Amino acid sequence: MSPVDEFLPPGWTVQEGRGIALVIAGPSGAGKSSVIAEVLRRDPNLAFSVSATTRPRRPEEVDGRDYSFVSEEAFDRMIEEGALIEWTTYGGYRYGTPWAEVAGRLAAGQDLLINVEVQGALALRRSALPHPMVLVFMIPPSRDELRRRIRARGTESDEALARRLAIAEEEIRAIPEFDYLVVNDALEEAVARVEAILAAERARIMRCSP
Ligand code: ADP
Ligand code: 5GP
Repeated sequence: MSPVDEFLPPGWTVQEGRGIALVIAGPSGAGKSSVIAEVLRRDPNLAFSVSATTRPRRPEEVDGRDYSFVSEEAFDRMIEEGALIEWTTYGGYRYGTPWAEVAGRLAAGQDLLINVEVQGALALRRSALPHPMVLVFMIPPSRDELRRRIRARGTESDEALARRLAIAEEEIRAIPEFDYLVVNDALEEAVARVEAILAAERARIMRCSP
């Protein structure tokens, strides 16, 4: 019960037990991880859904914070045990969203940021999670800048870079299926746009309905 419930129709309540899942997708190199890290740093009430992946860890990544880095066998086991809401193969490695990262926390009213590729975002929306999914598509200001950012990150071979750019061309076709578009030109501004989306979603009247 919230003190402002007296203003609402009978049966309605300001929901504190219904977290928002803000799903951020978009081409590799758009800046999803950078923006998410900054939004998390600025809002202690937000949490991050740590995906499982078979990709090797990058030097600056921390196991359990950025990803759970697992073997192919461990990933197979997670699938068999039904531990993943959705999973995919991307650039030769597998990535998946564990139920354990998402369901309990949303049910407890925790707002979550989720970083997935485009099909994963759409799969989350179709999943059995009884929570609203807000789908954000992040794009870089241009294709040239996208290429520059992946190169600057220095984590991909030329072959992997080409593969990621080809996947990006596929991914941008799904933009119409998303709720919000965020251009990541200047990082600060992209962070502010994501924060504005969260603020708007938290204020939705729909979230008070029975
Ligand atoms: P993604 O998670 O979408 O693959 P990253 O967050 O890893 O993208 O960003 C890719 C590269 O671009 C990194 O080197 C990052 O530091 C850089 N980057 C991210 N956002 C910006 C920005 N707004 N301006 C310039 N460089 C950026
Ligand atoms: P990267 O190797 O650059 O960290 O991630 C490659 C792609 O995998 C990115 O588009 C990222 O959003 C996506 N990804 C990360 N975790 C998951 C996940 O759990 N599920 C899906 N479907 N994609 C993911």
